[in-house]
Amino acid sequence: MRVSTQIVLGYAMAVAATVAVAVIAWSQVRAIEKDIEEVGEEWQELDAVTSILASIRQARDGGPRTHLREDEATLARMVEEGPAAPDNAHDTREREIWTRLLALAREAQAADALTLARIENEAEILALRFWQEDRGRVPRHVQKLEERQARLRSVNIAAAGGILLLPLVFLLYLQLRIARPLARIQKRVEAIGRLTPAAAAHGGLRMDRLADAIAAMAESVEARQKSLTEQLQHADRLGGLGRIAAAVAHELNTPLGSIGLCLEGIRDEPGNAAQYLKTAEEQIEACTATTRKLLTYARLRPSAPQEMGATALAREAVGLVESHMRKNAVRVEVEGVPGEEEAVKGDASQLRQAIVNLLLNAIDASPRGGTVRVRVVAGKGAVEIAVDDEGPGVPEVMREEIFNPFFTTKRPGEGTGLGLSIAREIAESHGGTLTLGAGARGASFRIRLPSARMVQA
Ligand code: ADP
Repeated sequence: MRVSTQIVLGYAMAVAATVAVAVIAWSQVRAIEKDIEEVGEEWQELDAVTSILASIRQARDGGPRTHLREDEATLARMVEEGPAAPDNAHDTREREIWTRLLALAREAQAADALTLARIENEAEILALRFWQEDRGRVPRHVQKLEERQARLRSVNIAAAGGILLLPLVFLLYLQLRIARPLARIQKRVEAIGRLTPAAAAHGGLRMDRLADAIAAMAESVEARQKSLTEQLQHADRLGGLGRIAAAVAHELNTPLGSIGLCLEGIRDEPGNAAQYLKTAEEQIEACTATTRKLLTYARLRPSAPQEMGATALAREAVGLVESHMRKNAVRVEVEGVPGEEEAVKGDASQLRQAIVNLLLNAIDASPRGGTVRVRVVAGKGAVEIAVDDEGPGVPEVMREEIFNPFFTTKRPGEGTGLGLSIAREIAESHGGTLTLGAGARGASFRIRLPSARMVQA
C-alpha cells in the first residue's frame, strides 16, 4: 500500500474513532439528562404529596383553603400528563393514588371539620402508599447517575489520551514509514555516488541533502560511465587488434606453408624446380596482397581534403572495376544528382576505394547478366551513395559480422575479408557511416557522408 494511502487511511481511522467517542459521550449525556428528568419528576411527585397533606391539615385547623385549589391544579396536571392507560403496575398504582388525591383536594375545599378529618386520614394512607411505591426509586436513579458519570469520565480520559497520543503515533509512523527509508536511501545513494567530502560532511537527513546526494551520485555515475566507455573502446580496439593479428597469421600461414613445401620440392626434385618456383611466386603474391591491404587499413587517415562531386566519384570508381564487370557479365548503372548538393569533402582516392570495395562485392554477389545500381542522393546536410545489387543479400545473422576485418564467405584466394571494414573505416574517418540497408531483394550498402557545405560550416 502506498504511503499516501496509508496516511489517508490513518486519518480516516482517527476521524472514525473521534466520531465513535463523540457518539458514546453524547448517548451518556442523553441518558444522564433522562435520569435527571426522572429524579425531577419523582421530586415533583414527592412535593405534590407533601403539599396536599399540609393543605388538608391547614383546612382542618380552620386555616385558609386557597392552597387546596393550587394543589388541585397541580394534581389535575399530573393526572392529565401521565399516561391514561399505564403499561406497568407501578404507573397504574400511582395513577390511582393521584386520581384519588385529586378527588380529595376537590372535596376538602367545601368539607366540614369531620369530613376534613376523614379526608386527612385517607390522604395520609395514600401518602404512605406513595412512599412505599416510590421508596428506593430516587436512590436507584442517583446510583445510575453516579455510574453514568463514572463512564463519562472514562470516555473523557480516553478521548483526551487519544487526542494527545494520536499526533505521537502519527509522528512515530512518519518516522518509520518515511524518515527511516529516506535515510536509508540517502545512505545508499551516498555509497553509490561516493559522495564528495563536502556533501558527505552534511550528514543527517534532509530532502535537500538527499537531492545533493542524488546529484553527486549522478555526477559520479556519469564519470564512471565515461571511463567505462573509454575502457570498452580500448578493449574493443585491443580485441580488434587481436582478431586482426590472428587473421593475419592465418592469412599468411597458408601461403607460407605452401612456399615451404615448394622449397622442399626444389631441394628434393630439382627437375621440377620451375613448377615449384611458379607456385611459390603465386603464394608470395598472395602474401603481398594481404600485407598491401593491411597497410591500406593501417594508413586510413584523410590526407589533404578536397571537395568533389559524389556522382563523379562513383563514376570513377565504376571505371576502376570494368574488367571485373566484364569477367562476371554484370552491368553497373549510376544515377546521380549532379550539382552543388552532392558535393563531399575528403580524400578522393580513399573515398573512391570505398566505393570500389562495395562495387566488387556487389558484382561478386550478382548473377551473370545482373545489374548493380549506384544511386547518389543528397539532402538534409548529407550525401548518400547506395550500391544495390540483385544477389542473394546478406543473411540476418551475418549483418554485423561482415564488417569485421577478415570476415569472408568467399573461397580462399577470392576474398580477404577486408573490403567492408576498410570501406567503413574510410566512411567513418570522413565523418560518415557505412551501413547495410534493409532491402527486399539483394544487398544495399550505403555510404553516408556529410555534405561539403556542412563540413565547411
Ligand atoms: P571479402 O569481399 O573479401 O569477403 P568484405 O569485407 O568485402 O570481404 O565482405 C565480407 C563478406 O560480406 C563477404 O565475404 C560476403 O559474405 C559479405 N558481402 C559483402 N558484400 C555483399 C553483397 N553485396 N551481397 C552479399 N554478401 C556480401
